[in-house]
Amino acid sequence: MSAPQRTRPVHTLTVTRTEWITPHMVRVWAGGPGLAAVPDNGFTDNYVKLLFFPEGRPEGVDVAELRAQGKVVTRTYTIRRREPSELAIDFVYHGDVGLAGPWAASVQPGTEFSFQGPGGAYSPAADADWHLFVGDASAFPAIGAALESLPATAVAIAVLEVQDPADEQKFLTDARLDLRWVPAGTLVSAVEELELPAGSGHAFVHGETYVIRDLRKVLAGVDRLSISGYWRRGMAEPEFQAAKRTDPV
Ligand SMILES: Cc1cc2nc3c(=O)[nH]c(=O)nc-3n(C[C@H](O)[C@H](O)[C@H](O)COP(=O)(O)OP(=O)(O)OC[C@H]3O[C@@H](n4cnc5c(N)ncnc54)[C@H](O)[C@@H]3O)c2cc1C
Repeated sequence: MSAPQRTRPVHTLTVTRTEWITPHMVRVWAGGPGLAAVPDNGFTDNYVKLLFFPEGRPEGVDVAELRAQGKVVTRTYTIRRREPSELAIDFVYHGDVGLAGPWAASVQPGTEFSFQGPGGAYSPAADADWHLFVGDASAFPAIGAALESLPATAVAIAVLEVQDPADEQKFLTDARLDLRWVPAGTLVSAVEELELPAGSGHAFVHGETYVIRDLRKVLAGVDRLSISGYWRRGMAEPEFQAAKRTDPV
């Protein structure tokens, strides 16, 4: 995964509307004059680093300088959908803890926010015989974007974990999709039980870090694999990012 660099331009958009797409997922739509400058890198896991300024954002001081002073906090999110005048980011609402989840749950139209990116590394390979998608809700935006991009000739299997059946969402796809919703705590066993098709597979597997660690072993035989932890239980994102370097699981 190529990380957006600190020197990357900062984009600023304005929230246009929000909608709860399930009880634990809020979609934030944003647009404005800054949208045209946000590049589309062609990846379906297009992600950005949202910038939060706990002490406020002083006028006339650039983000690189504020970052150097430790006055910027980032959170990583996928661009779920892009329309001509808006883009959408889907936020898991995991309670009143954290920064980005509660922000998205309460943000009002007219609010400006900034981010760097997008980065990205994955799109479904056109020459794969089948595609596998495995993840929890944090990966649904990237998985949804990938499913929407697949042609009618594609074969796809998705094993997706939800905290509650009400959090199952609808994905539009032309592909022949075998979609399996599984309850929390059963993602690894559900994948272990899969009988994968013959031929060359391409898998996209993202979610909670300890779960991903176990899935790495289960899916070691898949030809092409995009796999990483998107978050880590008990750690806010800055600690999680630091632990990836010092305490990888
Ligand atoms: C490339 C990439 C793309 C991502 N795309 C998305 C996306 O599109 N949508 C999305 O919702 N998330 C996405 N994530 C995950 C998101 O960055 C993390 O969940 C992030 O920690 C949320 O920030 P926060 O401020 O809400 O919580 P934090 O302040 O980071 O964490 C506070 C507490 O909440 C826990 N927590 C964090 N995330 C979750 C969760 N999903 N479920 C339950 N508990 C959690 C933490 O373990 C911690 O204990 C992505 C991550 C990566 C690396």
